[in-house]
Amino acid sequence: MADRRRGAALGGPPGGGRRTASVGVDVDSLRHYYRIHGLDEGSATNAAWAVGVPRFVELFGELGIPATFYCIAEDLDVPGNGARLRSLVVAGHEIGNHTWHHRYDLTRLDPDTRWAEIAEGRSILEAAAGAPVVGFRSPGYNTDAALQVDVAASGHEYDTSVFPCVPYYLAKAGVMGAMRLRGRRSESVLGTPRVLAAPRDPYVADARQPHRRGSTGLRQYPVSVVAGVPLIGTAFTALGRAGSRAAVALAHAARHHVTVEFHAVDLLGLTDDGLDPALSVQPDLKASVARKRRIYRTILGWLAARRRFVRLDTLP
Ligand SMILES: [Zn+2]
Repeated sequence: MADRRRGAALGGPPGGGRRTASVGVDVDSLRHYYRIHGLDEGSATNAAWAVGVPRFVELFGELGIPATFYCIAEDLDVPGNGARLRSLVVAGHEIGNHTWHHRYDLTRLDPDTRWAEIAEGRSILEAAAGAPVVGFRSPGYNTDAALQVDVAASGHEYDTSVFPCVPYYLAKAGVMGAMRLRGRRSESVLGTPRVLAAPRDPYVADARQPHRRGSTGLRQYPVSVVAGVPLIGTAFTALGRAGSRAAVALAHAARHHVTVEFHAVDLLGLTDDGLDPALSVQPDLKASVARKRRIYRTILGWLAARRRFVRLDTLP
């Protein structure tokens, strides 16, 4: 199937239909937010899976949008998450591989451990979902040539780990630097600045350089960024409804295919859901769920009226 799809015009309108858009949700459980902020993960709950995911399913259902949920295989060890995963498939959504344990240092691991994170993650998710898992998203958006080779060799047909966003890259560098100054350790990895020169529209990558166009690598679907604004949940929450709609309209005008990304925690609220106050280090969690839902519904509805939402595993 990969051969049939390779070389086709990516994100193109098959049969001359409307242009396309896709939406993905990274189901990062709360423990990863504790880890990235250097907090004690012993207080982490399963709210991302148990509360955040169903809220997104309900929102996408109202709009008739199929989505891809990029899941972490080890989260299936938590009772109930296997059933939640299967219910996503039943609702018509795609399951993507967000690795076995969500190691932020994936690109720095030894080859055997890296392979296991990618290949075992996919096998576990596929077995639990009872549906093919062909899409990959790397933790923290870090990818490189060796990782890309493993992603392709382990049966994936596309990758959506490229996030060519200058403000995000600089902010991540700043946060990591500030934590180092305070003597705290983040598990985050900055990754290569080559990502900033990556194509903005979907492309077939060079196998030796996933941030460049080529013919030997995987299909890449970069997270959409326009005028420095990434089309991700935290940015929408910061921009509000009018600002988010303006950003999405710019992306609609500029991009062949629009890739929107959320995290399951984007529809959680510190107060709404009684989360640990220590998580207020993640500022968007302080916003109310109702406000965030209104913003997300507005921009997804706006896009759905103008583009055809597709699952990335169905694109040619
Ligand atoms: Zn993640």
